[in-house]
Amino acid sequence: MVGSAIIRQLRQQSTQHRIVVADRNDIDLTNQEAVRDFFTSERIDQVYLAAAKVGGIHANNAYPAEFIYENLMIESNIIHQAYTSGVRELLFLGSSCIYPKYAQQPIVETELLNGALEPTNEAYAIAKIAGIKLCESYNRQYGVDYRSVMPTNLYGPNDNFHPENSHVIPAMMRRFHEATSANDSEVVVWGSGKPMREFLHVDDMAAACLHVMNLDKTIYEENTEPMMSHINIGTGVDCTIRELAETMATVTGFRGKLRFDTSKPDGTPRKLLDVSRIHKMGWESSIRIEQGLADTYKWFLENSRTLR
Ligand code: GDP
Repeated sequence: MVGSAIIRQLRQQSTQHRIVVADRNDIDLTNQEAVRDFFTSERIDQVYLAAAKVGGIHANNAYPAEFIYENLMIESNIIHQAYTSGVRELLFLGSSCIYPKYAQQPIVETELLNGALEPTNEAYAIAKIAGIKLCESYNRQYGVDYRSVMPTNLYGPNDNFHPENSHVIPAMMRRFHEATSANDSEVVVWGSGKPMREFLHVDDMAAACLHVMNLDKTIYEENTEPMMSHINIGTGVDCTIRELAETMATVTGFRGKLRFDTSKPDGTPRKLLDVSRIHKMGWESSIRIEQGLADTYKWFLENSRTLR
């Protein structure tokens, strides 16, 4: 989802670059040799590392071994091979779940490693924290310029709409759509509806990625610390899962009732990022949730035959 959004923006914004894409069908990024062969066969000067194994609360909780193993392998292989191949500029994409479960809200970057993680996504979070620390270690020891961005919960075109394993927005969109089509009287929403989440459209995220990648090194260094170098990317606004469900009902035309299934986990109570750092660096989000959901639903309807 994020990789394709970054490619769309790179194509729009620049004619000088040649964009080389390696997606999951081209290379097994957990395979060190395959990654090495890729880097040696192409001449690459900038890397956007958007590849990852991602999933929602259920998938993270159910398959922790896959989440920690695949993400550690992808990051280690690409970051190390980028360095070995002489790549000076790399952008690593993480996640807001790197922060402690009870981090102070809104969460500032310096909350990293200040407390215990949310158990449902601990394995994924540890892998993403390792990615930030890989970048910082290579910067310190080898003098490269590897930066990290931590997006809040993302949504948009090309998301994974799997009913069980996806994140809340695509899962709900699919369920509300199916309920509307079948004229059902109720839709099930996981958990209590009380957790609060912040949502960012993937096109905003892609714009932030290009902004951070192209930022002057002195501005980046003035606003970060060598061992606390990651940057939060979000909207600065959150809502409850109940409010999200109500907006989703409006977007999909569902008129029935909501039923909250409290046998499903709530996860972390709140996850709102402090976005002062990225604002100071000259970037702000621009897509409001109502608009973003409506656009995503349009995409969903147009692509319903080929959804992931
Ligand atoms: P999280 O931010 O890592 O917890 O990831 P999710 O996007 O999977 O879940 C966010 C919140 O939405 C949690 O409190 C879930 O319980 C809640 N939620 C409500 N309905 C759904 C659903 O159908 N799928 C998912 N994944 N989460 C849901």
